[in-house]
Amino acid sequence: MMIDDTSSVASRDGLEKASLLARIKAGIAWRRGLVRARMQARFGPISHVRTTEPVVALTFDDGPHPQFTPQLLEVLRKHGAHATFFMLGTMARRHPEIVREVAEGGHAIGNHTLNHPSIPLVSRPERWRQIRSCSRALKPYEQKLFRPPYGHYDLGPCVDAAMLGYSIIGWNAHAFDWLDHDPEWMAEHMIAHLQPGSIITLHDALYSMLDEKHADRIPTIHAVDLLLEKMSHRYRFVTVPELLKHGTAEHWSCFGKVDLEFLSRLKPNDGSVREYNANPAGKCSADNFRR
Ligand SMILES: [Zn+2]
Repeated sequence: MMIDDTSSVASRDGLEKASLLARIKAGIAWRRGLVRARMQARFGPISHVRTTEPVVALTFDDGPHPQFTPQLLEVLRKHGAHATFFMLGTMARRHPEIVREVAEGGHAIGNHTLNHPSIPLVSRPERWRQIRSCSRALKPYEQKLFRPPYGHYDLGPCVDAAMLGYSIIGWNAHAFDWLDHDPEWMAEHMIAHLQPGSIITLHDALYSMLDEKHADRIPTIHAVDLLLEKMSHRYRFVTVPELLKHGTAEHWSCFGKVDLEFLSRLKPNDGSVREYNANPAGKCSADNFRR
C-alpha cells in the first residue's frame, strides 16, 4: 500500500513538473514570437499595405535612364498615374535633369544606393556611404524611402537604413521584367497579382542583367501602358508615401537571403566588375543569411 502511494505521488510530481516545463517553454516561445513580430514591424521591409481601398503603387528601380525614364513618364502622364522611382546615385549624378523631371511630374523619389551593391555583403561603413552618397545625388527631391538592391537585406542593413531615417520598401508583385517576357505576358502577370494596397516592382533601367538584351526597357514600358489601360478604371496608381496613408503596412521578415549564385551570373551594365568574395566583413556565404 505504502509503495503504491509513494509511486502515485512521484508520478503526480512528474506530471506537474512536465506541465510546468511545457508552460515555461510555451511562454518563452510566445515572448520570442512577440519580439520577432515587433522587430519585423520595425525593421522588415514593407511588402504592401493592408487596405480595402483601390490604391496600388508602381515602383521603378535602377534609373534614371536618359532614354527610358522620359518615355515611361509620358505613359504615366497619359494615364494620370503616379509612381515611385528608386534611383541609383551614380545614374542621378549623370542625369540630374531627369531626376528633376520625375519630381516635377508628382512622382516620389527613393534611395537605391550609390551603385547597387548587395548590401548584406558589404561592410557597415560602406552601406552608410552607399545610402548617404545616393541621398546627396538625389537632393533636394529624395523622400526617405530605401529599397535594397536585388531585394537583398538582413537585420543589420535594415537597422542601418532605419537609423538613417528611411522606411525600407519591398514589394508583393512584379513582372519578372529583368528577364525575357513580352509586354502582354508581363501586364497579365501583374493584373493577376494585383490587389488593393499592392506594391509592384519594375525597372526603368537595369543595373545588371543575365543577358545584354534585357537592358531594353521598351517591353516594360509597353507592359505598364497595357496595365494602366486595363486597370486604371479599377485602381488609382499612387506613390508609395500616398499608398501608406491608406492602410496598415505589412512587412517582410527582417531576416533576408542573398542568392550568391544569381549574383555571380549577372553582367553589370556599367562595365564594372563586382567581386563579392572580397567582402571585408568576411561573411560572403549564403550560409550567413536566412529568410
Ligand atoms: Zn536595383
